[in-house]
Amino acid sequence: MAATLLARGGSAAARALTFGCLRQLHTVYQTVELPETHQMLCRTCRDFAEKELVPVAAQLDKEHRFPDEQVKKMGALGLLAMDVPEEYKGAGLDYLAYSIAVEEISRGCASTGVIMSVNNSLYLGPILKFGSEEQKHQWIAPFTSGDKIGCFALSEPGNGSDAGAASTVARLDGNEWVLNGTKAWITNAWDASAVVVFATTDKSQKHKGISAFLVPMPTAGLSLGKKEDKLGIRASSTANLIFEDCRIPKANLLGQQGMGFKIAMQTLDSGRIGIASQALGIAQGALDCAVDYAEKRLAFGSPISKLQAIQFKLADMALALESARLLTWRAAMLKDNGKPYTKEAAMAKLAASEAATAISHQAIQILGGMGYVTEMPAERHYRDARITEIYEGTSEIQRLVIAGQLLKEYRG
Ligand SMILES: Cc1cc2nc3c(=O)[nH]c(=O)nc-3n(C[C@H](O)[C@H](O)[C@H](O)COP(=O)(O)OP(=O)(O)OC[C@H]3O[C@@H](n4cnc5c(N)ncnc54)[C@H](O)[C@@H]3O)c2cc1C
Repeated sequence: MAATLLARGGSAAARALTFGCLRQLHTVYQTVELPETHQMLCRTCRDFAEKELVPVAAQLDKEHRFPDEQVKKMGALGLLAMDVPEEYKGAGLDYLAYSIAVEEISRGCASTGVIMSVNNSLYLGPILKFGSEEQKHQWIAPFTSGDKIGCFALSEPGNGSDAGAASTVARLDGNEWVLNGTKAWITNAWDASAVVVFATTDKSQKHKGISAFLVPMPTAGLSLGKKEDKLGIRASSTANLIFEDCRIPKANLLGQQGMGFKIAMQTLDSGRIGIASQALGIAQGALDCAVDYAEKRLAFGSPISKLQAIQFKLADMALALESARLLTWRAAMLKDNGKPYTKEAAMAKLAASEAATAISHQAIQILGGMGYVTEMPAERHYRDARITEIYEGTSEIQRLVIAGQLLKEYRG
C-alpha cells in the first residue's frame, strides 16, 4: 500500500501545477524540509482532498452523511492503516506520515479526518501494540482497506475526563466475557464493524481493574444509541454503545486483565497526534479561505489584504498554525524514534486545537458577512474546530498532562 501512495504522489505533483495548489505547497515546505517520501505523500493526500473531499464536504456536513465512498478510496490508498506493517495489510509508514496525511484530509473535510484518525490511532493502534499475533491477523487486516472501520469506546455518560471511573463491567462466565454498561460519544459507532471497549473486571482495583476487549459489530447484546446531532464534524457518526449481557469469547481480551487503563492512556497519547493533525487541517483550511477572500474583496477601493488590520490577523493566524504544526511533527517524530512523547503529544493537541479555534474565528471576521453563511466553508471550519478542544482529552486535561510530566522532569 505504501507503494500505491507513493506511485500516486508523482502524478499528483504534476496536477498540483496551479496557482492555488502551489501556494499551499509553499506553506508546508517553507516550514521544514520534509523527507521526499513525506513530500510525495503530502501531495497525494492534498490532491485526493481537493478532488474527492472539498467538493462534497459541505453537502456531507449538511446531510450528516458518512463519506462511505471516500473512505473506501482512502482505504485503497493505504490511508486507513498508515503505520500498520505491510504483513497486516497496512501502509508500513510512520507517524510523521500519518500526521501529514490526517492534516491534508482534514483540510478537505474534518469529518473524514476524524473517521481516519479513529480507525488508525484509536482502533488499530492498541491492537497493533497490545494484541496477540492471532488478534492482529483477525482484527487488523480486514480494517485496512476501507471495507470495515473500527471504533474505540472509553467514555461513559457518567465519566469522560475521569476515564478511570468506568462503570461498564465485564464478568467471565466459562469461556465467555459478559459485558454490561453504556459507552458514550463513540465516533464511527453507526458505521463500525468492531470496537475496542474498556470495562471493569475488578471494581476493587479502581482504574487498575479495567480491561480492554475486542467486540465485533453488530453482535447480540450490543445496541446503538441515537446519532448525536452535533455542532461540527457532522458527517461522522457519534452514538452510545449499549451493552446488555453482551457475550464475547474469552480470547477477545486485549492485553492482560487489568491492563485496560494503561492501554487506553497510551492509545490516547498517539491519538492526540491525530487530533492535533486534524486541527491543523481545519486551521489551514480556514487560513486559505481567509487569504483568498482578503485578496479578492474590495473595500474603500482596494483589496482588504492591503489593510494592516487584516494583515495583522493573517500574521497571527499563520504564526499559531505553523507553531502548532512544528509541535505536532515533533511529537510524531519522537514516537517514530521510540522516545517518550506523552507531554509533547498533549502540547501538540492543545496548541493545534486552540489555534484551530482562534484561526477559524478570525477567518470568519475577515470574511465579514460571508463568513457567517454556508456558501463559504469558513463557518464549517469554525464549527468543526471546536471539537478538537474536547475529545481525546479536553484542553484542561492536556494542561494537567503537560504540568504532570513537566513536574516529573524537574523533580527527576
Ligand atoms: C463528537 C465527540 C466524539 C467523541 N468520540 C469519542 C470516542 O470515539 N470514544 C470515546 O471514548 N470518547 C469519545 N468522546 C468523548 C470525549 O472524549 C469526552 O467528551 C471528553 O473526554 C470530555 O469528557 P466529558 O464530556 O464527560 O466532560 P467532563 O469530563 O464532564 O468535563 C466537563 C468539564 O470539566 C472539565 N474537567 C473535568 N475534569 C477536570 C479536571 N480534573 N481538571 C480541570 N478540569 C476538568 C473538563 O475539561 C470540561 O471542561 C467524544 C466526544 C464528542 C463530543
